Amino acid sequence: MGKKKERKVRVDFRKNYGSSARPPDLTRQYQDQGQELDTQSSQRVSGKGDRTRRRTILTTEEGDPLAATGVSVERQQDQRLGRVLRVHGLECVVQPEGEAIHVRCAVRGVLKTLSTDQRHVVVAGDVVRFVPQGDAQGMILSIEPRSHALARASKGKRHVIVANVDQLLIIVSAAEPALKPNLIDRFLATAEQDGLEPVIVINKCDLIDPASIQPLVGTYARCGYSIWMVSAARGWNLDPLRQMIAQRHSVVAGQSGVGKSSLLNALIPGWKLRVQSISDDNQKGRHTTTTAEWFPLEQGGALVDTPGIRQFQLWDIIPDELTSLFRDLRPFANRCRFPNCTHQHESDCAVKDAVADGKIDVRRYESFSHILDDPQGE
Ligand code: GDP
Ligand code: ZN
Repeated sequence: MGKKKERKVRVDFRKNYGSSARPPDLTRQYQDQGQELDTQSSQRVSGKGDRTRRRTILTTEEGDPLAATGVSVERQQDQRLGRVLRVHGLECVVQPEGEAIHVRCAVRGVLKTLSTDQRHVVVAGDVVRFVPQGDAQGMILSIEPRSHALARASKGKRHVIVANVDQLLIIVSAAEPALKPNLIDRFLATAEQDGLEPVIVINKCDLIDPASIQPLVGTYARCGYSIWMVSAARGWNLDPLRQMIAQRHSVVAGQSGVGKSSLLNALIPGWKLRVQSISDDNQKGRHTTTTAEWFPLEQGGALVDTPGIRQFQLWDIIPDELTSLFRDLRPFANRCRFPNCTHQHESDCAVKDAVADGKIDVRRYESFSHILDDPQGE
């Protein structure tokens, strides 16, 4: 089939796109709907999940989205869905749906052109459509629309780090290094912004008198956050944590030294072993940088580790938005006199009143003000 002229079209996102399940009788649907079924088209998604309503796809005059890929239509039945576990430069390690094998996939031309040094067009967690090619190799044709994604700001741009996650595991330590509540608040705001459910894990509780952090724990619990005091070393409270991560797609965040590796080793059978498979990959591949790693859990769900990303910079925070990212400030904000109140120097500020009345925790308010002052942080 000859190459046809490409054009860009804007299409609405379909609802219910988060599922990785292969739709029934896909080939038939494709024949019936032509370009309406855009699984074979390249697509750019911003990673903003539910907030994105439109996207650009590349298609051809005849509405045959495969024509531009150089893949013949006869090969459509060979196409598979798979999960991207890791990205090494332009090569992705993909696990085909329902199989335990790993396929090393290149990314096809038009998708590749969207990549830069700073940004991978395909990220860990993406569900991709690919064609197997030879021995455990393949070519990625398209990326399925993403549900929630974890993103970070870098040099003024928003980068998706991992796609299709629903939970952010925030690991901090009670001591050594000292507990940094403001950092927890930054992680929480990031989770709120990306639509991820945060779970706060305070490790190394064996090093402190647990009563000493009860007020802090209480503040977060009153906000409705799930918060756990654990010890990886002593095995305290690990069972409920295991239940929290089962069946979910969690991404892990934490500064180095807080005991993240110790905790994940204690929680997840096989976590240690994965290090070997990654270094095997790196020896075969030319690239050694791994931005994020998707680890399927035996009991269902997955855990995503993000080496090198110890903290998150908040993306383009505007004051109005930051208030909405603080669950405890949010209910008061619409009673402020000025609709764009930053709750700092304004008069008739319901948030400041609530702090004065003890309805909002002073430390949380200070943390809010600190992020407002310095959104990029530390
Ligand atoms: P990571 O950098 O966050 O992956 O941290 P590690 O898992 O390498 O742990 C850093 C240090 O903290 C190591 O010396 C661990 O033995 C220690 N550590 C980890 N978890 C605990 C804990 O629950 N209690 C205590 N006392 N030490 C811990
Ligand atoms: Zn205000």
